Amino acid sequence: MTRKDVDTLIKNAFVITMNPRREMIERGAVAITGTRIVAVGPTDELMRSHSARHQIDAQGGIVHPGFIDTHVHFMNAARGAFPDTMDLSTSMNIYRQWWDGVDDEDEYASSLLNCIEMLSNGTTCFLEAGTVHNPHAAAEAAERVGMRGFVGDPFLWDMPAAPGVHVMSRAPRALDRSLSLLGSQLKRNSKPDGLVRGCVVLFGLGSASDELVRTAKRIADENNAIFSQHQSFGPNDAAADERRLGKRALCHFADIDVLGHNCTFSHMNDLSGDEMAMVRQAGMSVAWCPGTAMTLATGATVKGPHLHMHRDGVNTALASDGANSACRYDIGLQGLLALLASRERTQKRDSFSAEDVMELATVNGARALGMAHEIGSLEVGKRADIVIRSTDLPEAQPGVDPLQTLVYCCGSKSVASVLVNGETVWSAGRPRRIEAAQIYELARKSTDRMWTKLGLSRQSRWPIVQ
Ligand SMILES: [Zn+2]
Repeated sequence: MTRKDVDTLIKNAFVITMNPRREMIERGAVAITGTRIVAVGPTDELMRSHSARHQIDAQGGIVHPGFIDTHVHFMNAARGAFPDTMDLSTSMNIYRQWWDGVDDEDEYASSLLNCIEMLSNGTTCFLEAGTVHNPHAAAEAAERVGMRGFVGDPFLWDMPAAPGVHVMSRAPRALDRSLSLLGSQLKRNSKPDGLVRGCVVLFGLGSASDELVRTAKRIADENNAIFSQHQSFGPNDAAADERRLGKRALCHFADIDVLGHNCTFSHMNDLSGDEMAMVRQAGMSVAWCPGTAMTLATGATVKGPHLHMHRDGVNTALASDGANSACRYDIGLQGLLALLASRERTQKRDSFSAEDVMELATVNGARALGMAHEIGSLEVGKRADIVIRSTDLPEAQPGVDPLQTLVYCCGSKSVASVLVNGETVWSAGRPRRIEAAQIYELARKSTDRMWTKLGLSRQSRWPIVQ
């Protein structure tokens, strides 16, 4: 038998394929040529039928599709800018001043740091929530590191800010400015092999007029792109929407026909029964941010609609959201939080399983970003975005049930290597294309500049002795 030449063969792995049959292959292998997967099966079989220029021995470790973060803000250089107990509106105003004060260099540094943090935790694709003024800097950082992602246009909004909210001078709330920018990142989609693609993003949370929302949805439809925005974070913005629109926001959006399968709205913590029905009917996706909901003490993981929507067939994916709320840009952590919160809420162990975590983190994330045909599972023809886990740590032993071990015990500690487009971009605790120390230095300098610019000082509740 003639053996087929391939570039890379990952062998001796416990392969969690996430294919439609959810097959897991003991002593499995994945063959890669170029950027795509060309074979998945038992190691013995693939070794007989393929000749690989490069072999990676997973030594029994788990191999699974890269995790997908469906809503992030590239601003982790802002970590620690305010105490973790500060009230939400005050801390959001510091964020807005931070967003207003950054320059291209700051955004590039923060984007690099975000990308390597996500890779280190097994995330291979992200959607930035339209909160970098220079999307090109964010895209350049992702490409430099070798990560897949989506960027939109910055801070698109046209409704006046609420009293007391810091008004961002760099991103005036205006319809003409928003319309002139809207869709400009979609030009990235003309390159089918490009790592960074464009999507349509509004800031959301009641900050856009119907005209702006309608135009965003139309442009997304015309370009076969995703339309994303923040929505219904909590009772305050949901009630403000209801006062302004005369009905619940999602019901209004259904009325003006801006919901559809290409919509992925983030948070969605406060929805009525009617709104949940609209979401399901539209076939849209939800970016669930359990870390943010819990860190900011919203009550949304015990009262919110996510578990119900997920069980009701709404495509629910996971997201990290912000630097001071996500805990970490770590989809495995977000999945574990979703699981724990769902069980605590229902007091039923079968309400949310380790398998649910894997589905939300991979195939559901891929669908939420309109990439179900390209990523989210290890199947022939898909992009080789792959995480290889180590068994060489106490939490990975004895490893009788690898999937449970992964979700509950190992977490990100077990990430050994990460491939994007068939290229190893993370291994041995380091990014492969760029020195981590170089990124840390850029990020530290950016943080120093920003703290000086905004007059921030460290506020420790405990005395710090020099
Ligand atoms: Zn957000």
